[in-house]
Amino acid sequence: MKFRVLTAEFAHETNTFSRLITGKQAFRDRYVLIGEEAVSARREANTELAGFFDVGQEHGWQIEHVLSAAAGPSGRIERVAFDWLCDPIVAAAQQGQFDGILLGLHGAAVLNFCEDGEGEILRRLRAVLGEEVPIAVTLDPHANVSREMCALADILVAYRTYPHVDMRETGRRAGSILQRTMAGEIEPRTILVSRPMLEETNGGRTDAGPMIERLAAASEYERDADVFAVSINAGFASTDIFDVGPTVLVTGQGDFDRHTAFAEKLADDIWARRHEVLNDYLTVEAVASVAKAFDPMNGPLVIADYADNPGAGAYGDSTALLGALLEAGVKNACFGPMVDGEVAGALQRFKLGERTSVVLGGKIDAKFGGGPLTLEGELVSISDGTYVGDGPILGGLTRSHGPTAVLRVDGIEILIVTIAKQMLDLQQFASFGIEPTQKDVIALKSMQHFRAAFEPIAAKVIVCDSGALCTLHYELLPYRSVRRPIFPLDQDA
Ligand SMILES: [Zn+2]
Repeated sequence: MKFRVLTAEFAHETNTFSRLITGKQAFRDRYVLIGEEAVSARREANTELAGFFDVGQEHGWQIEHVLSAAAGPSGRIERVAFDWLCDPIVAAAQQGQFDGILLGLHGAAVLNFCEDGEGEILRRLRAVLGEEVPIAVTLDPHANVSREMCALADILVAYRTYPHVDMRETGRRAGSILQRTMAGEIEPRTILVSRPMLEETNGGRTDAGPMIERLAAASEYERDADVFAVSINAGFASTDIFDVGPTVLVTGQGDFDRHTAFAEKLADDIWARRHEVLNDYLTVEAVASVAKAFDPMNGPLVIADYADNPGAGAYGDSTALLGALLEAGVKNACFGPMVDGEVAGALQRFKLGERTSVVLGGKIDAKFGGGPLTLEGELVSISDGTYVGDGPILGGLTRSHGPTAVLRVDGIEILIVTIAKQMLDLQQFASFGIEPTQKDVIALKSMQHFRAAFEPIAAKVIVCDSGALCTLHYELLPYRSVRRPIFPLDQDA
């Protein structure tokens, strides 16, 4: 029997503290790909959709792919943008007589009318589908999963890597469970346990620390015939909602007391090890003095600005780190991205090699990460900002920073962009004339994803909290809606 399956991808990680409301343009800036257009852009890359199609091909599914859409992390999604993307998915589900629904969602979307964006998609789908049609969902582990999401979807499967490099594999895992469900072999549902924390202490990083053991235990438990997936979500802390925080999910059947007990054990470990911080978060001054003294004989020093990561909804225009590096007189360095569309746009009219002065960055909210810097430099390159990734996360995928320029100020080449994106691929420098492997110091904005492409070329990696919007000083953020007490806002929660 050939199953008819509806697929769609919708991804947004909402930083509710961001002043930048997420409308239609924010999705257009990342991607909105309809039907076949999405399939041709994403079928052969490391995407959930590729994994869905791998399983579909194996089992002869008739797939109707509605759309793939994502916006860079930013503030709450406006209703008009949400409806614009959600309505076609729901309409297709209503018309199609599907045997199953397979969705690639992020899990941390917040709407301007609802705290639980993914719950809202699932609610609307259930309203037209009823209870019987199985729904399978993939998640980014930086998801804030609600009980309602688990009640509405049968199958939820999160990535198992951070840096995220298993999107396609996760798509395959969810697709395979859906196949067995449609075939009547299994009857999965998903349970959730959580702990009162803003996030897993290390954001769920999987290259070091306690997540390695937790994931090994999860894989071991999945060998049980009644267990189809165990997902360990770090949560996403920059979200002021009731259901924020880490969760453990078990998608299974049979003895749910046993599944719950297993999930509780993992959640207890997340709680018990909440003080085991893996990164040493340095101030910008400390970072600048390390950079100044660094011997690049074995390769570059990579400095990650954790707090100004556009990949978590920070503005990417914080100037504190750049200012400190310039002040320290660091040479043969690059810095990026600095998100400032005004300056990137204005520089398009200059000639390469020309010197000019700019008022750069710090314009959105100087309280987080410093105000504008007045700098004079030489124009190294201008571009429309398009690049094709070649690393483990973005390999083969086309992305754009919008109008982009590189300005050399003293010893630092600054990548100035219009569209905010975290630094996770060497091509984000190389495509614009900066060769990161030839630099002594690479300063970039990312929390953890940069490690996939940049650790292999780095002699040393250090991490900085510049005080930008994703600062670890949570007490500086106006949390109001999270359930209290919660760690680390309430230390003895
Ligand atoms: Zn993530």
